[in-house]
Amino acid sequence: MNIILLGPPGAGKGTQASRLESEHGMVQLSTGDMLRAAVKAGTPIGVQAKAVMDAGELVSDEIVSGLIGERLDELGGETSVIFDGYPRTAAQADSLDQILADRGRKLDHVIELVVEEEALVDRITGRFSCAKCGAGYHDRYKLPKVENVCDVCGSSEFKRRPDDNEETVRTRMAEYRAKTAPILPIYEARGIVSKVDGMADIDHVNDAIEAILGSDAS
Ligand code: ADP
Ligand code: AMP
Repeated sequence: MNIILLGPPGAGKGTQASRLESEHGMVQLSTGDMLRAAVKAGTPIGVQAKAVMDAGELVSDEIVSGLIGERLDELGGETSVIFDGYPRTAAQADSLDQILADRGRKLDHVIELVVEEEALVDRITGRFSCAKCGAGYHDRYKLPKVENVCDVCGSSEFKRRPDDNEETVRTRMAEYRAKTAPILPIYEARGIVSKVDGMADIDHVNDAIEAILGSDAS
């Protein structure tokens, strides 16, 4: 199965993708995570992408589609994948069609997480993650069960993203409205879009996604 989690920054895509990974053994393909890894490693792609990411703008279509194709080739053809943060433009949506067709895959579901803009700012400015395993948290909505100890790996080191500040978030939302939201009709015309109320709490959003995936995700 191949699904896209679509929604603005902070909608809960990464949170829900990791639930699907642990519950169904699906693999999350997050272009944001791939780009941050490239920045950290200082690769040519990372060097090129850093300033664009810090400004909240979009990295080039060629770079992100290249990363997705490479990652898919590393996975077995039977692995179910969740695209998180990709595609973000009409050109990327076209590339994804080609990338999937070349590998004998098809898109099963596009799940749109619908969240109000003010809630997004609140979510993003309160977001942090485990520095060791990457588990995601929030200052108010998802604190570690034991203060300052990661639920998943026990580490006490946490980090915040440099682009998770209010100013950059506004640019990222404008990019979403201008370039990403317009790709929804492409998938609506294929009858594969389901909308989920992303304002609900994390467990309820997960339940709604599970209901959409149904027996496909067993
Ligand atoms: P995205 O991957 O779409 O950018 P995240 O999954 O990282 O978003 O979620 C952004 C922040 O909001 C995180 O700190 C996360 O813990 C929190 N969060 C995610 N889903 C919800 C929810 N349904 N209700 C409240 N907070 C949430
Ligand atoms: P994310 O982790 O999805 O919030 O992405 C963080 C940043 O990485 C974005 O603000 C963009 O600068 C860049 N990025 C991630 N995915 C893409 C993509 N599909 N297309 C273009 N830029 C991307």
